Amino acid sequence: MQHLLTEEQRSIRDLARRIAEEKIKPIRAKYDEESIFPWDIVQELARADLFRVFIPVEYEGLVEQGHGVTNMCLVTEELSKACAGIVLAYAGTALGPFPLLLFGTEEQKKKYLPPLAAGKKLAAFGLTEPMAGSDAGSIRTTARRDGDHYVLNGTKVFITNGGEAEIYTVVALTQPEKGARGASAFVVEKGTPGFSFGKKEKKMGIHASVTSELIFEDARVPAGNLLGREGMGFIVAMKTFDLSRPGVAAQALGIAEGALEETLRYVNQRRQFGKNIISFQGIQWMLADMATQIEAARALIYSLTDRIDRGDTRDVGYLSAMAKVFASDVAMKVTTDAVQVFGGYGYMSDYPVEKMMRDAKITQIYEGTNQIQRNVIGTHLVKEAAKLAG
Ligand SMILES: Cc1cc2nc3c(=O)[nH]c(=O)nc-3n(C[C@H](O)[C@H](O)[C@H](O)COP(=O)(O)OP(=O)(O)OC[C@H]3O[C@@H](n4cnc5c(N)ncnc54)[C@H](O)[C@@H]3O)c2cc1C
Repeated sequence: MQHLLTEEQRSIRDLARRIAEEKIKPIRAKYDEESIFPWDIVQELARADLFRVFIPVEYEGLVEQGHGVTNMCLVTEELSKACAGIVLAYAGTALGPFPLLLFGTEEQKKKYLPPLAAGKKLAAFGLTEPMAGSDAGSIRTTARRDGDHYVLNGTKVFITNGGEAEIYTVVALTQPEKGARGASAFVVEKGTPGFSFGKKEKKMGIHASVTSELIFEDARVPAGNLLGREGMGFIVAMKTFDLSRPGVAAQALGIAEGALEETLRYVNQRRQFGKNIISFQGIQWMLADMATQIEAARALIYSLTDRIDRGDTRDVGYLSAMAKVFASDVAMKVTTDAVQVFGGYGYMSDYPVEKMMRDAKITQIYEGTNQIQRNVIGTHLVKEAAKLAG
């Protein structure tokens, strides 16, 4: 797979790999234990221009054509090898430009993209609500037009980067009577009167990522912050996820690779029955399956991102769902097997595989659970079957 990368992509990957090795690995256990938000790593990534790699040159990014999804995935993968929590300050922000690039006006792009490219501001995406997770069409947050503003009321839950980000894309109902077809997407800035942050979640894993409630109480958002037109909120959300789900897949891939690397180091240190445990065929077979699954996930992700960056968006929702399902199931399996290879030591937090297994789980849940992704794939196949049936 690596031979398919351009020279520029290889240098982006190598830069991210160096930051992961030198800056993230030494602090990951502490940041996880103490749930520290990684502002120092954000600054490191900004200095290395890695926030620019998914933003077009016109808006102070480095992407000359396409969406820079391969670049974003390469950085996400490398950082996730070291810590899948810390990476979310980056990957969650990579979600920010997609709705703007796909649906924003020139004025909106010029205002919001340069500070994201510089890594001076982080972004977040607010769709989920207490009663609307997989069934996102059941959201209740409203946006009522009032002169040259919209007035937002409601609560979003589980929002990555919530409270730390400055720029939020929020989906709310402008015509509640129309349900999902009455939803619209807005850019909402931190500091908007009536917009505040509620509960910070305590989680199983990804502790260095913050997950918070967004609370809107008569929050007045300028009408100029509407993305696209009224009623397009779900189109904005779904098209955004088509481009961002490969990023979740890349996060999962990085976690699995990190776990395999730790395991390969361990099997030549741990001795039982007078031998290094790598000499047992039962262990070699587990390693073989781990490596095979990782290679398959990598092929699926980067063939997709290459297509997206070349502007070929046929079946992108279907393929993004496949990449996300496959890579996240691989991450869960590989990290669980890594803990198994470490034996009792794998269950202890002294070794990083314990954290990796906890972190892997989220990749099967967010940006649409794997059941929902399988629904997307299944729906596509039902249509294909109907075509064959004539
Ligand atoms: C750490 C974390 C970070 C997150 N970050 C964000 C964020 O930044 N922005 C944001 O908007 N959201 C975010 N989310 C929300 C996330 O996308 C949702 O949690 C997810 O979509 C699932 O919704 P839910 O939790 O309400 O589960 P539910 O929808 O209640 O699902 C419960 C179970 O039912 C299954 N299920 C539901 N419907 C079906 C169906 N039709 N067929 C088969 N099975 C089904 C699900 O797969 C799941 O197993 C985050 C969540 C977490 C945990």
